Amino acid sequence: MSTQATFDIQRIRADFPLLARTVHGKPLVYFDNANTSQKPQAVIEAVDRHYREHNANVSRAVHLLGEEATASYEGARDALARFIHAPSRNEVVLTSGTTQAANLVAYSFALPRLRAGDAILTTTMEHHANIVPWQLVAARAGATVKAAPIDERGELIVEKFVELLTPEVKLACVTHVSNVLGTVNPIRELARACRERGIPLFVDGSQAMPHRPVDVRALGCDFYALTGHKMLAPTGTGALWAKKEHLDAMPPFFGGGEMIREVRFSGTTFAEPPHRFEAGTPNIAGFAGVGAAIAYVEALGFDALRAHEHALLDHATAQLREIPGLRIFGEAGDKEPVISFLVEGAQATDLATLLDLEGVAVRSGHHCAHPLMQFYGVPATLRASLAFYNTHEEVDAFVAALLKVRRLLR
Ligand code: PMP
Repeated sequence: MSTQATFDIQRIRADFPLLARTVHGKPLVYFDNANTSQKPQAVIEAVDRHYREHNANVSRAVHLLGEEATASYEGARDALARFIHAPSRNEVVLTSGTTQAANLVAYSFALPRLRAGDAILTTTMEHHANIVPWQLVAARAGATVKAAPIDERGELIVEKFVELLTPEVKLACVTHVSNVLGTVNPIRELARACRERGIPLFVDGSQAMPHRPVDVRALGCDFYALTGHKMLAPTGTGALWAKKEHLDAMPPFFGGGEMIREVRFSGTTFAEPPHRFEAGTPNIAGFAGVGAAIAYVEALGFDALRAHEHALLDHATAQLREIPGLRIFGEAGDKEPVISFLVEGAQATDLATLLDLEGVAVRSGHHCAHPLMQFYGVPATLRASLAFYNTHEEVDAFVAALLKVRRLLR
């Protein structure tokens, strides 16, 4: 069956109201999906419906609205657990995103285990969210953070990663998909190597979830962090999946309401995971949108979504390769639809600013990946990141706009 038959791109685009708008008088070409995705009507309506019909706080009220809000919030946990094939819904901690998930693991899991001289292993291609939390706790313990190298194509050098899994390493932290290069890391292989050495593996799934099905059991990692807002859901939503044995052993990170069993001045006891890690009022409306976002992706199906995204990636890459003086960063054999590049003689920010005037939204900058920029010896790149609701015509419009603005800068 062809993708065309199963994938009606115009019908899909009609589900995303924002895609119909113009910017600077031009039709919008939104290629900043790795930063945040656009939201389908179903997600917008779920948030709207929450505030119009169900708004109440979760878990605290016996009245009907409170029950409805709690059911919707806990329903998002169920949906996420199913989506990532978590063995149990109680292994899914709802967070504001991947950053909060990483910090939770850093302070609640890593810090109590780190001793002076220990290390946390990460890689050169990480987002700052998968570097800085580890540095903060390592500094407290007198431990260090080291990075496994990548090659020029932007692939992790797996043998080096494995070599660096030495006895002082107490945690390894790797991104599933690079937000700059699109590189897909071989998580199963890395998890096996970590397991053989008794080293837990934290995976940053922020950029993987919008593009590929995730099965945390099959991946074999210990922790998997994800971001809702990059996969159609509202901002301020995300989750940490962790093996039960880890969550059970983790002390609370944030204290407050919702996460306790009994509070006494003589000593407080805490709720079981996952609620132990969910202090305070969460983003209830946002999580109403998470349920709707997952339902949307499930209805579409990853096969069709991936076929379309990879056709777009190939189409865009082939055209960009034709442009003299254009350098692509990230040519891994397995990559998701993210293209970082620079054009000789033009600053990334100037190009992004001029592209915006042509209606094309791309990101320029270091993409929260200073060490990766340093590896390539550049301060910034331009990044076009695609989603399943983008079209071949948009790729053509982007390339035409790029050729036009490059001429202006000469
Ligand atoms: N990791 C990666 C690879 C990312 O791209 C991002 C978002 N830019 C994050 C972590 C941070 O995610 P969040 O916005 O959910 O905190």
